[in-house]
Amino acid sequence: MARRILFLTISLIALGACAKSGDAPPPHYIAGAVPGDRAPDGASVIFEAEDGLIVIDTGRHPDHQQKILDYAKMRGAPIAAIVNTHWHLDHTGGNAELRAAYPGLKVYATGAVGAALEGFLARGRAMNAEALDDPETPESQKADMRLDMEAVDHPQALRPDITVSERMSLPAKGRALELNVTDHAATAADIWVWDPATKTAVVGDLVTLPAPFFDTGCAEGWAKALNDIAAKPVERVIPGHGAPMDAKAFTTYRQAFENLIACASDQGSNDCAERWARDAGGLMSEAEKASAVPYAQYYIDHILRNPKAVWALCE
Ligand SMILES: [Zn+2]
Repeated sequence: MARRILFLTISLIALGACAKSGDAPPPHYIAGAVPGDRAPDGASVIFEAEDGLIVIDTGRHPDHQQKILDYAKMRGAPIAAIVNTHWHLDHTGGNAELRAAYPGLKVYATGAVGAALEGFLARGRAMNAEALDDPETPESQKADMRLDMEAVDHPQALRPDITVSERMSLPAKGRALELNVTDHAATAADIWVWDPATKTAVVGDLVTLPAPFFDTGCAEGWAKALNDIAAKPVERVIPGHGAPMDAKAFTTYRQAFENLIACASDQGSNDCAERWARDAGGLMSEAEKASAVPYAQYYIDHILRNPKAVWALCE
Protein backbone atom coordinates (compact mmCIF):
# COMPACT_ATOMS: atom_id res chain seq x y z
CA MET A 1 0.00 0.00 0.00
CA ALA A 2 2.78 2.41 0.98
CA ARG A 3 4.41 1.75 -2.36
CA ARG A 4 1.20 2.51 -4.22
CA ILE A 5 0.76 5.80 -2.38
CA LEU A 6 4.37 6.70 -3.13
CA PHE A 7 3.77 5.91 -6.82
CA LEU A 8 0.68 8.12 -6.92
CA THR A 9 2.55 10.94 -5.21
CA ILE A 10 5.40 10.75 -7.69
CA SER A 11 2.96 10.68 -10.60
CA LEU A 12 1.20 13.80 -9.34
CA ILE A 13 4.53 15.58 -8.88
CA ALA A 14 5.56 14.59 -12.40
CA LEU A 15 2.28 15.87 -13.81
CA GLY A 16 2.70 19.12 -11.89
CA ALA A 17 6.21 19.51 -13.25
CA CYS A 18 4.94 18.98 -16.79
CA ALA A 19 2.22 21.54 -16.37
CA LYS A 20 4.72 24.08 -15.04
CA SER A 21 7.28 23.47 -17.79
CA GLY A 22 4.46 24.56 -20.04
CA ASP A 23 4.94 24.29 -23.73
CA ALA A 24 7.47 21.48 -24.07
CA PRO A 25 6.83 18.71 -21.53
CA PRO A 26 9.88 16.48 -20.97
CA PRO A 27 9.78 12.98 -22.43
CA HIS A 28 8.77 9.94 -20.38
CA TYR A 29 11.38 7.18 -20.16
CA ILE A 30 10.63 3.45 -19.92
CA ALA A 31 13.81 1.46 -19.28
CA GLY A 32 14.58 -1.60 -21.37
CA ALA A 33 16.41 -4.66 -20.11
CA VAL A 34 19.23 -7.02 -21.06
CA PRO A 35 18.50 -9.85 -18.62
CA GLY A 36 20.62 -12.98 -18.77
CA ASP A 37 17.67 -15.35 -18.88
CA ARG A 38 15.64 -13.94 -21.79
CA ALA A 39 16.05 -11.79 -24.89
CA PRO A 40 16.43 -8.02 -24.37
CA ASP A 41 13.93 -5.15 -24.64
CA GLY A 42 15.11 -1.78 -25.94
CA ALA A 43 14.19 1.35 -23.95
CA SER A 44 11.11 3.38 -24.94
CA VAL A 45 10.79 7.17 -24.80
CA ILE A 46 7.42 8.90 -25.05
CA PHE A 47 6.81 12.49 -26.19
CA GLU A 48 3.50 14.36 -26.22
CA ALA A 49 2.06 15.87 -29.39
CA GLU A 50 -1.20 17.72 -30.04
CA ASP A 51 -2.89 14.64 -31.49
CA GLY A 52 -1.53 12.11 -28.98
CA LEU A 53 1.67 10.44 -27.87
CA ILE A 54 4.79 9.72 -29.92
CA VAL A 55 6.38 6.45 -28.77
CA ILE A 56 10.00 5.84 -29.70
CA ASP A 57 10.56 2.05 -29.84
CA THR A 58 8.13 -0.55 -28.58
CA GLY A 59 10.23 -3.28 -26.88
CA ARG A 60 9.95 -7.01 -27.45
CA HIS A 61 7.95 -8.47 -24.56
CA PRO A 62 4.29 -7.91 -23.64
CA ASP A 63 5.23 -6.66 -20.15
CA HIS A 64 7.25 -3.83 -21.75
CA GLN A 65 4.36 -2.91 -24.08
CA GLN A 66 1.99 -2.91 -21.11
CA LYS A 67 4.07 -0.15 -19.50
CA ILE A 68 3.61 1.96 -22.65
CA LEU A 69 -0.14 1.28 -22.80
CA ASP A 70 -0.50 2.02 -19.07
CA TYR A 71 1.28 5.35 -19.51
CA ALA A 72 -1.02 6.32 -22.39
CA LYS A 73 -4.03 5.43 -20.25
CA MET A 74 -2.66 7.40 -17.30
CA ARG A 75 -2.14 10.47 -19.54
CA GLY A 76 -5.55 9.99 -21.13
CA ALA A 77 -3.99 10.39 -24.58
CA PRO A 78 -4.01 8.07 -27.59
CA ILE A 79 -0.79 6.83 -29.16
CA ALA A 80 -0.60 8.79 -32.41
CA ALA A 81 2.80 7.68 -33.67
CA ILE A 82 5.58 5.15 -33.24
CA VAL A 83 9.14 5.97 -34.26
CA ASN A 84 11.29 2.85 -34.64
CA THR A 85 14.98 3.71 -34.25
CA HIS A 86 15.76 0.48 -36.16
CA TRP A 87 14.13 -2.83 -37.05
CA HIS A 88 15.62 -5.15 -34.40
CA LEU A 89 12.76 -6.98 -32.72
CA ASP A 90 13.69 -5.74 -29.24
CA HIS A 91 12.66 -2.27 -30.54
CA THR A 92 9.80 -3.14 -32.91
CA GLY A 93 8.28 -6.31 -31.43
CA GLY A 94 5.55 -4.26 -29.72
CA ASN A 95 4.40 -2.45 -32.89
CA ALA A 96 1.62 -5.00 -33.44
CA GLU A 97 0.22 -4.64 -29.89
CA LEU A 98 0.26 -0.84 -30.04
CA ARG A 99 -1.30 -0.82 -33.53
CA ALA A 100 -4.04 -3.14 -32.26
CA ALA A 101 -4.79 -0.80 -29.34
CA TYR A 102 -4.57 2.40 -31.46
CA PRO A 103 -5.38 1.45 -35.09
CA GLY A 104 -4.96 5.05 -36.28
CA LEU A 105 -1.33 5.38 -35.27
CA LYS A 106 1.40 5.90 -37.84
CA VAL A 107 4.78 4.12 -37.76
CA TYR A 108 7.82 6.18 -38.76
CA ALA A 109 10.86 4.07 -39.69
CA THR A 110 13.52 3.76 -42.37
CA GLY A 111 13.07 1.37 -45.28
CA ALA A 112 15.84 -0.90 -43.91
CA VAL A 113 13.24 -3.24 -42.42
CA GLY A 114 12.31 -4.37 -45.97
CA ALA A 115 15.69 -5.98 -46.66
CA ALA A 116 15.83 -7.27 -43.08
CA LEU A 117 12.51 -9.11 -43.53
CA GLU A 118 13.95 -10.84 -46.60
CA GLY A 119 17.34 -11.53 -45.02
CA PHE A 120 18.26 -11.37 -41.33
CA LEU A 121 14.75 -11.74 -39.93
CA ALA A 122 13.78 -14.52 -42.36
CA ARG A 123 16.95 -16.45 -41.44
CA GLY A 124 16.28 -15.85 -37.76
CA ARG A 125 12.74 -17.16 -38.13
CA ALA A 126 13.99 -20.34 -39.83
CA MET A 127 16.61 -20.88 -37.12
CA ASN A 128 13.98 -20.38 -34.40
CA ALA A 129 11.60 -22.85 -36.09
CA GLU A 130 14.40 -25.43 -36.20
CA ALA A 131 15.37 -24.78 -32.58
CA LEU A 132 11.76 -25.18 -31.41
CA ASP A 133 11.77 -28.69 -32.88
CA ASP A 134 15.07 -29.54 -31.20
CA PRO A 135 14.61 -31.37 -27.86
CA GLU A 136 17.94 -29.88 -26.70
CA THR A 137 16.56 -26.30 -26.79
CA PRO A 138 15.96 -25.07 -23.23
CA GLU A 139 12.29 -24.45 -22.45
CA SER A 140 13.21 -21.02 -21.08
CA GLN A 141 14.26 -19.83 -24.57
CA LYS A 142 11.23 -21.12 -26.43
CA ALA A 143 8.82 -18.36 -25.40
CA ASP A 144 11.14 -15.69 -26.85
CA MET A 145 11.57 -17.70 -30.06
CA ARG A 146 7.80 -17.93 -30.52
CA LEU A 147 7.45 -14.21 -29.79
CA ASP A 148 10.01 -13.27 -32.45
CA MET A 149 8.48 -15.67 -35.02
CA GLU A 150 5.07 -14.12 -34.35
CA ALA A 151 6.51 -10.64 -35.00
CA VAL A 152 8.12 -11.71 -38.29
CA ASP A 153 4.88 -13.43 -39.34
CA HIS A 154 3.14 -10.01 -39.17
CA PRO A 155 5.49 -7.92 -41.30
CA GLN A 156 2.84 -5.26 -41.93
CA ALA A 157 3.14 -4.26 -38.25
CA LEU A 158 6.90 -3.77 -38.66
CA ARG A 159 6.82 -1.84 -41.93
CA PRO A 160 6.63 1.96 -41.80
CA ASP A 161 3.50 3.91 -42.74
CA ILE A 162 5.85 6.84 -43.26
CA THR A 163 9.27 5.88 -44.59
CA VAL A 164 11.96 8.18 -43.24
CA SER A 165 14.80 8.38 -45.74
CA GLU A 166 16.33 11.72 -44.77
CA ARG A 167 16.21 14.16 -41.86
CA MET A 168 12.66 15.29 -41.12
CA SER A 169 10.83 17.01 -38.30
CA LEU A 170 7.94 15.66 -36.32
CA PRO A 171 5.76 18.16 -34.41
CA ALA A 172 5.53 17.59 -30.65
CA LYS A 173 4.20 19.87 -27.91
CA GLY A 174 6.32 23.02 -27.76
CA ARG A 175 8.94 21.90 -30.28
CA ALA A 176 9.61 19.93 -33.44
CA LEU A 177 11.50 16.68 -32.92
CA GLU A 178 14.25 16.08 -35.45
CA LEU A 179 14.43 12.55 -36.91
CA ASN A 180 17.97 11.95 -38.18
CA VAL A 181 18.86 9.06 -40.47
CA THR A 182 22.22 7.25 -40.34
CA ASP A 183 24.05 5.57 -43.21
CA HIS A 184 25.11 2.03 -42.21
CA ALA A 185 25.52 2.25 -38.45
CA ALA A 186 23.76 -0.25 -36.13
CA THR A 187 21.70 -1.31 -39.18
CA ALA A 188 21.70 -0.19 -42.83
CA ALA A 189 19.66 2.88 -41.78
CA ASP A 190 18.79 3.89 -38.21
CA ILE A 191 16.88 6.87 -36.84
CA TRP A 192 18.07 8.92 -33.89
CA VAL A 193 15.81 11.59 -32.46
CA TRP A 194 16.92 15.04 -31.34
CA ASP A 195 14.68 16.98 -28.95
CA PRO A 196 15.89 20.60 -29.02
CA ALA A 197 13.64 21.59 -26.09
CA THR A 198 15.32 19.31 -23.54
CA LYS A 199 18.61 18.82 -25.47
CA THR A 200 17.98 15.08 -25.40
CA ALA A 201 19.15 12.61 -28.06
CA VAL A 202 17.22 9.33 -28.20
CA VAL A 203 19.68 7.13 -30.04
CA GLY A 204 18.42 3.54 -30.10
CA ASP A 205 21.24 1.03 -30.49
CA LEU A 206 23.82 3.61 -31.53
CA VAL A 207 24.62 3.51 -27.80
CA THR A 208 24.32 0.19 -25.99
CA LEU A 209 25.80 -1.35 -22.87
CA PRO A 210 27.44 -3.63 -21.93
CA ALA A 211 28.97 -3.40 -25.45
CA PRO A 212 28.05 -2.10 -28.91
CA PHE A 213 25.79 -4.78 -30.45
CA PHE A 214 27.47 -5.28 -33.82
CA ASP A 215 25.13 -8.05 -35.10
CA THR A 216 23.98 -5.97 -38.07
CA GLY A 217 26.37 -3.05 -37.70
CA CYS A 218 29.04 -1.26 -39.69
CA ALA A 219 31.79 0.21 -37.50
CA GLU A 220 32.68 3.18 -39.76
CA GLY A 221 29.14 4.42 -40.30
CA TRP A 222 28.44 3.88 -36.63
CA ALA A 223 31.42 6.02 -35.53
CA LYS A 224 30.21 8.77 -37.88
CA ALA A 225 26.72 8.64 -36.39
CA LEU A 226 28.19 9.06 -32.88
CA ASN A 227 30.09 12.13 -34.16
CA ASP A 228 26.89 13.58 -35.61
CA ILE A 229 25.14 13.18 -32.24
CA ALA A 230 28.11 14.79 -30.48
CA ALA A 231 27.80 17.80 -32.81
CA LYS A 232 24.50 18.69 -31.07
CA PRO A 233 24.50 20.67 -27.81
CA VAL A 234 23.49 17.44 -26.13
CA GLU A 235 22.74 17.28 -22.39
CA ARG A 236 21.19 13.82 -22.21
CA VAL A 237 21.59 10.72 -24.36
CA ILE A 238 19.07 7.90 -24.00
CA PRO A 239 20.61 4.61 -25.17
CA GLY A 240 18.72 1.62 -26.52
CA HIS A 241 20.24 -0.46 -23.72
CA GLY A 242 21.80 1.00 -20.58
CA ALA A 243 21.05 3.96 -18.32
CA PRO A 244 20.54 7.51 -19.72
CA MET A 245 23.83 9.45 -19.95
CA ASP A 246 24.90 13.06 -19.54
CA ALA A 247 27.16 14.72 -22.13
CA LYS A 248 30.36 13.71 -20.33
CA ALA A 249 29.34 10.05 -20.16
CA PHE A 250 28.43 10.10 -23.86
CA THR A 251 31.91 11.47 -24.68
CA THR A 252 33.38 8.59 -22.66
CA TYR A 253 31.25 6.10 -24.62
CA ARG A 254 32.25 7.58 -27.96
CA GLN A 255 35.96 7.46 -27.07
CA ALA A 256 35.62 3.87 -25.82
CA PHE A 257 33.84 2.92 -29.08
CA GLU A 258 36.64 4.45 -31.19
CA ASN A 259 39.30 2.70 -29.10
CA LEU A 260 37.47 -0.62 -29.52
CA ILE A 261 37.33 -0.32 -33.31
CA ALA A 262 40.99 0.74 -33.57
CA CYS A 263 42.15 -2.02 -31.21
CA ALA A 264 40.09 -4.72 -32.95
CA SER A 265 41.85 -4.01 -36.25
CA ASP A 266 45.24 -5.26 -35.10
CA GLN A 267 45.37 -6.46 -31.49
CA GLY A 268 44.25 -9.53 -29.53
CA SER A 269 40.49 -9.76 -29.06
CA ASN A 270 40.73 -10.46 -25.34
CA ASP A 271 43.03 -7.45 -24.80
CA CYS A 272 40.65 -5.23 -26.79
CA ALA A 273 37.59 -6.49 -24.92
CA GLU A 274 39.31 -5.83 -21.60
CA ARG A 275 40.27 -2.36 -22.74
CA TRP A 276 36.63 -1.71 -23.73
CA ALA A 277 35.50 -2.83 -20.26
CA ARG A 278 38.03 -0.45 -18.66
CA ASP A 279 37.20 2.50 -20.96
CA ALA A 280 33.41 2.19 -20.63
CA GLY A 281 33.19 0.46 -17.23
CA GLY A 282 32.30 3.69 -15.42
CA LEU A 283 29.06 3.86 -17.47
CA MET A 284 27.93 0.35 -16.52
CA SER A 285 25.95 -1.26 -13.73
CA GLU A 286 27.64 -4.12 -11.87
CA ALA A 287 25.68 -6.66 -13.94
CA GLU A 288 26.71 -4.92 -17.18
CA LYS A 289 30.35 -4.87 -16.06
CA ALA A 290 30.25 -8.63 -15.49
CA SER A 291 29.26 -9.33 -19.10
CA ALA A 292 31.17 -6.53 -20.89
CA VAL A 293 34.30 -8.56 -21.75
CA PRO A 294 32.51 -11.67 -23.15
CA TYR A 295 30.09 -9.49 -25.17
CA ALA A 296 32.86 -7.33 -26.64
CA GLN A 297 35.08 -10.32 -27.38
CA TYR A 298 32.22 -12.13 -29.11
CA TYR A 299 31.61 -9.19 -31.45
CA ILE A 300 35.32 -8.70 -32.19
CA ASP A 301 35.80 -12.37 -33.10
CA HIS A 302 32.50 -13.00 -34.89
CA ILE A 303 31.76 -9.68 -36.59
CA LEU A 304 34.53 -7.08 -36.59
CA ARG A 305 37.25 -9.59 -37.56
CA ASN A 306 35.12 -11.99 -39.54
CA PRO A 307 35.23 -11.23 -43.28
CA LYS A 308 32.37 -13.65 -43.76
CA ALA A 309 30.10 -11.85 -41.27
CA VAL A 310 27.27 -11.49 -43.73
CA TRP A 311 25.43 -9.02 -41.52
CA ALA A 312 28.32 -6.65 -40.89
CA LEU A 313 27.63 -4.84 -44.10
CA CYS A 314 28.98 -1.40 -44.80
CA GLU A 315 27.43 -1.06 -48.23
ZN1 LIG B 1 18.43 -3.37 -29.11
